[in-house]
Amino acid sequence: PRLANQIAAGEVVERPASVVKELVENSLDAGASKIEIELEKGGTKLIRIRDNGCGVAKEELQLALSRHATSKVTSLDDLEAIISLGFRGEALASISSVSRLTFSSCTAEQNEGWQACTEGRDMAVKVQPVAHPVGTSVEVADLFFNTPARRRFLRSEKTEFGHIEELVKRLALSHFEVHFSLKHNGKVVKNFRPALTLAQQEKRVAAICSNQFMQHALAIKAQHGDLALSGWIIEPQGARAQNDVQYCYVNGRMMRDKLINHAIRQAYADKLPSHLFAGFIIYIQVDPAEVDVNVHPAKHEVRFHQGRLVHDFILQTLNDALLNHEP
Ligand code: ADP
Ligand code: MG
Repeated sequence: PRLANQIAAGEVVERPASVVKELVENSLDAGASKIEIELEKGGTKLIRIRDNGCGVAKEELQLALSRHATSKVTSLDDLEAIISLGFRGEALASISSVSRLTFSSCTAEQNEGWQACTEGRDMAVKVQPVAHPVGTSVEVADLFFNTPARRRFLRSEKTEFGHIEELVKRLALSHFEVHFSLKHNGKVVKNFRPALTLAQQEKRVAAICSNQFMQHALAIKAQHGDLALSGWIIEPQGARAQNDVQYCYVNGRMMRDKLINHAIRQAYADKLPSHLFAGFIIYIQVDPAEVDVNVHPAKHEVRFHQGRLVHDFILQTLNDALLNHEP
């Protein structure tokens, strides 16, 4: 099973940032309101994620670390309409096959925490009691220690950290209600407190994307049946300096999507020179049954069943916002 897991790991675990992504998505799925991320050496030496989510019960610990064990899909219907971020039940098994992984957790029903370690050659999991508040801590040490070929693909500490920093920004933009902190080599580098009001959210956006972006941003909000759109787009005058801010979320997931990008580009078509792409942060909510998210294992791509409708809704909303806006 370890080999199979290592092969699967190739799909899911490309670099430290992919580990952080899977672990933080698990924390979000667990309903955490606070997620602490700690790294050493760009995550290559250590990644530690602490959350205050629901935790994993002692009896479920071993299962959680084994392949295709997911608590998130219990029927085919669920697969049709996936709401939670993770659902393949592969991440933890894959990560543990290429690192030394320690998973500690406590549920509200338990009066003590339990810890599982998957260090070593086989998948044997050792479970022991541990002092732990309700929630989960996952430690991933020495990523790729047993897969030298993959370890060679790791870039410098600075580059790997850069990828994680960008990821944390994207996550912080998708879950304003969650407190995120990021520590690197013992220093706090990011600390985003829960942002509940629009003003607090705009402050978080400014901290993540720059003050200029926020100064030139137009807030958007629209609804059409099951489809909802919100976020910020840049006013055309501000586009030049801020075209690197391009964030798109579908049902809380970060996405890159041709159809969405096309709609945005079209909205600015007569307002910007064609080489400029306007900055945006866009949140799309759509009936989960209307969208396929499993196009790629990394889940960056999305396929809308009614692509045309989504495209035109975005275009219409942006056109309205740009039209109503007086320069
Ligand atoms: P998936 O997220 O696709 O279900 P994972 O391998 O990422 O698969 O996780 C396996 C299972 O472990 C999850 O379904 C969940 O039950 C449990 N789990 C993992 N991380 C956490 C966490 N931070 N808090 C609570 N449960 C967790
Ligand atoms: Mg997961």
